[in-house]
Amino acid sequence: MLAPKHGQAQPDLQIRFAPASALVPDGVETYAMFGRLKEEGKKWPSGFSFQLVAIRPQSRDGYVQLRTTDPWDAPDLSIGYFTDKRGEDIATLRNGVQIARKMAKMDAFRDYLKDEVWPGSHVQTDGELDEYLKGSVHSANALIGSCQMGSDVSKGAVVDSQLRVHGAKNLRVIDASVIPIIPGAQTGAATVMVAERAAAMIMGQTVPKPNEPARFPEPVAA
Ligand SMILES: Cc1cc2nc3c(=O)[nH]c(=O)nc-3n(C[C@H](O)[C@H](O)[C@H](O)COP(=O)(O)OP(=O)(O)OC[C@H]3O[C@@H](n4cnc5c(N)ncnc54)[C@H](O)[C@@H]3O)c2cc1C
Repeated sequence: MLAPKHGQAQPDLQIRFAPASALVPDGVETYAMFGRLKEEGKKWPSGFSFQLVAIRPQSRDGYVQLRTTDPWDAPDLSIGYFTDKRGEDIATLRNGVQIARKMAKMDAFRDYLKDEVWPGSHVQTDGELDEYLKGSVHSANALIGSCQMGSDVSKGAVVDSQLRVHGAKNLRVIDASVIPIIPGAQTGAATVMVAERAAAMIMGQTVPKPNEPARFPEPVAA
């Protein structure tokens, strides 16, 4: 479900419904734990969950950089959650908790609702909710923007508009990392679109205009 703020043209919040209880407040860790439960032959505890996703995040202070000169070392990565100065991202999620609480009390859930597990009904004030959100925030698996597209290398651009790496020959980056901002939901379809446009560029074809299907050569008969 996408929830537009009052008077706002585009939604800033996505509410995902899962017909299962969360195992910890962090939704990604919940899936990982479920994988382990499955291996042990155990069932997922019954219940239901709402996952709140700020799909147009304003925070921009994340970074990824080399930690050492050894290419096998893991990079230094900081996502920079809730670094937007106006606090819009945390306000979106705080608002999401309130919407989810209202939804959980609707008639359709009456037979299934027992206790609120997270954040828990004792968590009420903005300050308490913010503490909970800061302690449970995660990527929602929509990781993008570590290899920014643009023309100005001094401002962090890594690839040009044809996805060619600045300063390197015959090297392009074609994946979710070149997407400059979260496209308003999950990132899979946007990544496929990047790949289709890149394939057309590499094959020297005119890049289709928006809403125009990509044109690929007919497959050659074997
Ligand atoms: C748990 C999870 C759930 C998600 N759910 C959704 C969803 O419901 N809807 C949605 O739209 N998006 C979803 N996404 C996001 C979506 O999957 C990603 O945005 C998308 O897959 C990014 O594509 P990519 O090509 O950039 O990277 P990837 O899909 O991660 O592809 C990278 C590939 O490179 C390979 N690789 C890595 N290192 C090497 C190496 N050294 N040599 C050779 N190959 C290598 C990997 O094996 C992998 O196949 C989800 C992501 C996760 C993790």
